[in-house]
Amino acid sequence: MDSSQFRKAAHAAIEDIIKYRDTISERNVLPSISPGYLGPLLPDAAPEDGEEWSKIQSDIDRVIMPGLTHWQSPKFMAFYPCNASLPGILGDMYSGAFNAAAFNWICSPAVTELETIVMDWVGKLINLPDCYRSDGEGGGIIQGTASEVVVTAVVAARERILRRRLIDMPEGEEKIDKMAEMRGKLVAMGSEHAHSSTQKAAIIAGTRFRAVPAPQSAGFAVTKAALRKTIEECKARGLEPFYYTATLGSTATCAIDDLVGIAELAKEFPDIWIHVDAAYAGSALICPEYQHLTKPMEDFDSFNFNLHKWLLVNFDCSAFYIKRRKDLIDTYSIVPSYLRNNFSESGLVTDYRDWQIPLGRRFRSLKVWFVLRTYGVNGLRVLIRNHIKLGEYFHSLLLSRTDVFKVITGPAFALTTFVLNPKKVEGATEAQDLLAGNKLTQEVYEAVNRKGEFFLTSGVLDGVYAIRVVSATENAEEKYLKALFEGLIELAGEYRDGYRD
Ligand code: PLP
Repeated sequence: MDSSQFRKAAHAAIEDIIKYRDTISERNVLPSISPGYLGPLLPDAAPEDGEEWSKIQSDIDRVIMPGLTHWQSPKFMAFYPCNASLPGILGDMYSGAFNAAAFNWICSPAVTELETIVMDWVGKLINLPDCYRSDGEGGGIIQGTASEVVVTAVVAARERILRRRLIDMPEGEEKIDKMAEMRGKLVAMGSEHAHSSTQKAAIIAGTRFRAVPAPQSAGFAVTKAALRKTIEECKARGLEPFYYTATLGSTATCAIDDLVGIAELAKEFPDIWIHVDAAYAGSALICPEYQHLTKPMEDFDSFNFNLHKWLLVNFDCSAFYIKRRKDLIDTYSIVPSYLRNNFSESGLVTDYRDWQIPLGRRFRSLKVWFVLRTYGVNGLRVLIRNHIKLGEYFHSLLLSRTDVFKVITGPAFALTTFVLNPKKVEGATEAQDLLAGNKLTQEVYEAVNRKGEFFLTSGVLDGVYAIRVVSATENAEEKYLKALFEGLIELAGEYRDGYRD
């Protein structure tokens, strides 16, 4: 493809993208194809000769569109959002054009320096304590996903505790043996409602994992007492808890752990690395009314949130902040001769490869920069507050029909979880009611997704099967929540009648 062909193709692609985004609400969110749909639509092998862009582009509609789940639709209310935006798309375009594996500062100084500056901007914007800023001992780095951040933190925490425990031991075989023995006793911890990424990170790090109970009576959050109990139980068994993921907005209900209490524990157990995962809810910290939540971070080690969830930066973009960047560098800096250069040796530059697991890195800060400048802080606050209001609106709809629905949690950061009440039966036990309610809720939930117009997710909370609704796409509006609500009422009527027959 030469420049003039690219110009024509790119213009056509942009027109296509604009049309797609402008008409997205007219589509069902979920595709209606079956697994394996794509194979018969494509040839068995790559074409021998190059094809015209117009032919390739036409296959987007024919081949790709039928298999898409439309995450940018206002009728997407599943999981958490994954919001793209037009300035974010422009950022990705430029990043593609400059394409580089910018692992060292010299590999593309603008990639490193813009990332440092933009991460400091964002840290300030969400009121993260100054200790996370790059002008002190801390700093921010962009990673792909929260899961990558958590693995990076868990492995660094594991190495930090081994270094601390074996500081006086001379290097050599004996130390290596001791480290291997100690690793088997290390325990990473996370709330029972923390995202599965902590458990996965423990598997990758070769440590144990322990879930800290977070029952409904505690609002599905981890309390200081619960964390202390888990730590003490581990210690009583001769194990060494070394890491905890505190959650600011759990996946199931958007619950917030007792961060103030956990900060007190952090002072008592300074060898436990505390990481705060605010993957979704962290974006709300741009609004002053949520910023009191960041105070305890002073006593923690690291923090992350995904700008690609709620802050309009295209996937992937997880902001990872560290209080002492040395904790990462001590683990991840390995410098073979082919990576050496005078700038790195000078100590005047940041080489982000020393803060992360992969070597190469994309120019992700461009899309953050474009989004922040296009919307401005005020524009982004309007977006978040609008979604919070929509959450309250949906919650009020549920409360207007307590004969049909029961709210389980929320609205919390726009997420509400709820169940459907089964038909009353004289003399039914609590257990029978629970079973009937679970079945009814699951049936209705599955019926909504089968229709495909809306996409919801569900979860089991202390044995209760609950539907989650979070409407936080850029184009979210009350009318879509109203339509969903009316659809739920209709389905409730269908499934509830004769349900216990
Ligand atoms: N942490 C929380 C609280 C989440 O809700 C999620 C996903 O929804 C994740 C982590 C994982 O995010 P990622 O896909 O960025 O790894």
